Amino acid sequence: MKKIILVISFLCLWALGAGAVGVKQGSVKTLVDSCGFFPQMSPDGQWLLFSTTEGSHLILKNLSTGDHRVVSSTGMPGFDAIFGPDGKVYYLTQERKKGNLLYRTGHCYDPSTGKDEIVLKGQHGQVQPLRAAAGVVINGERQIYSSAKKVGAWAYTRGTTLYLVDANGVSRALQPIDDSNGYLWASLSPDGTKVMFEAASHGVVVCDLNGSVIAELGEFLMPSWYNNDYIIAMSNAGNTRTNESRIWLISIDGSVFKPISPREERAVQPMTAGGKVVYTVQYSGEVKQLELDIEPAKAMPAAPGKGKVEKSPNPGSKKDLPRVFINPGHGGHDDDDRHIPTWVISARDTLHYYESNSNLTKALALEEILHNKGYETVLSRKTNKTEDDLDLFEIVALASNSGADIFLALHSNATGTENRVNFPLALYRGWDDKDVVEGSHALSDMIMHFAKMNELTVWSHKERSRGDWSFYPEWGYKVGLGVLRYNKLPATLIEGSFHDYLPERERLFCDNYCWLEAWNYSQGLDEYFHYYGKFKNGVLAGVIRWEDILRQDDDMRLYGDDELKPLNGALLRLYTDRGVMTRAYTLDNRDNGVFVFSNLPPMKYKLEVYYGDEELYITTKVKTKKNETVYKNLMMRKDMKPKKKKK
Ligand SMILES: [Zn+2]
Repeated sequence: MKKIILVISFLCLWALGAGAVGVKQGSVKTLVDSCGFFPQMSPDGQWLLFSTTEGSHLILKNLSTGDHRVVSSTGMPGFDAIFGPDGKVYYLTQERKKGNLLYRTGHCYDPSTGKDEIVLKGQHGQVQPLRAAAGVVINGERQIYSSAKKVGAWAYTRGTTLYLVDANGVSRALQPIDDSNGYLWASLSPDGTKVMFEAASHGVVVCDLNGSVIAELGEFLMPSWYNNDYIIAMSNAGNTRTNESRIWLISIDGSVFKPISPREERAVQPMTAGGKVVYTVQYSGEVKQLELDIEPAKAMPAAPGKGKVEKSPNPGSKKDLPRVFINPGHGGHDDDDRHIPTWVISARDTLHYYESNSNLTKALALEEILHNKGYETVLSRKTNKTEDDLDLFEIVALASNSGADIFLALHSNATGTENRVNFPLALYRGWDDKDVVEGSHALSDMIMHFAKMNELTVWSHKERSRGDWSFYPEWGYKVGLGVLRYNKLPATLIEGSFHDYLPERERLFCDNYCWLEAWNYSQGLDEYFHYYGKFKNGVLAGVIRWEDILRQDDDMRLYGDDELKPLNGALLRLYTDRGVMTRAYTLDNRDNGVFVFSNLPPMKYKLEVYYGDEELYITTKVKTKKNETVYKNLMMRKDMKPKKKKK
């Protein structure tokens, strides 16, 4: 009953809101017919700035004359360009330099003169053009550019911290929301009294200048201030193939939540300036403009004076280390989680497999491995809750905000049919013979090169490294994977193996098997970043199977040694060549037979396998190598005699 009353009162509020404010009649216009993404309106309404589909070109359209001109066509200048209150365009270009690190350069383009100048030289890590109260700041981790001596206050986010920089350049770090996967899209209200941002997995938040939350406005993306009381934002469904997205008008007091773009359009990437709202229609790239019957905020005049470069108030890491953005696919054991109910053969239980679990296990392993190897990492989730299943566009925004050098999405695959196969697949944005973001194809190839070497699994087919446009033609021309769309980082989505190939699923239940997959990826990254061989330790891994016992499962499609039943519960001991026991490992009982010894100094070892009543059955010698995996698959036989009991 209570619920119904709440719903009714919400509808009333909604209806009231709908009556009071809305789109000005006859104000909807099409500004660009196609391929206009991330549109930005100049403060005087004379110019429209937009990016081509893949961010390769930054285009300026004169709205009075209809003329177009290219502002920039090198270094992926699209997606994050903005206008300053001075009417100039501020944008970034990116360049891969030594070791494939990405360096981002700040530019300023003056539409009135056509003059383009570099205002902030290339630097590694997070660099972003941001609106300040009376100017623009290009905010880097080392150095920042301000468009005038006194640009006023500004705000930005890095990780799960909101930074407020006051008019005197004094910076404060705030964390108004716990349990977020990262903050995005910070901006100060036109009157400078409030700050708004989006906390990924949480929604749009407005707080005061001390970080006290004033309003939580729900799951919307790319929020921007219309005036001091109203904001514009897009639905939290902006980058999937099936969900609809609309542009919303929302009041800070929570009384108005109103979609202002037509239902049949998938409207994304809104921004507002001078009482006009512009947005893009997903896929077609039409740019639309509409006006609201609400008084807009007064535009703050540009601060006079020349721009300056100074040290960042919140510097990042001292050295330019490779930074990897890791997106463990899915989250929260929901519908899209490729859940496979399982009947685990040996355990006779009904524990289920969820892709979100093994994806996260691999991601956390990769994070640890990369830290040990001297990398930096940023993860899109570190837990597995429903809220962690972020909108794909939100994930792309987090990656962009992180200042990373590359983007990795970690998944496993399933045919969704009775056909059981098993091979690793890496997908990058573009065609098979041409990646959209330079480096993506090479990165995919390097990771696949190491992924295929995994001897714990049995591959049914060769590894593949493909462009997503070529791989998914049925999705439409240049549609591709949502998590790679608008993603300017060299990026790949890895389907590590097929979790509906049943022996593989049993392996994916083993955290150490997931660790090994992550380790193999780390070697691909070592190649990509020219880091190979810097890590001094190696890995010993294998599977122990029964040479004379077959798996008893009639329905299972099996390849190679997967016909053989794996050993469960055996104890392994590893001795140095001086006879000192250095590690022990117990096989799990999930029919995978997997063992992995990580982080081993390179030298000769003796490996012993104990089984049954802890009796020794197998002894073997191995030699591990620096930054390499030595595979040692072993066989047990029913007629084997124990050598001796455990000491
Ligand atoms: Zn997946």
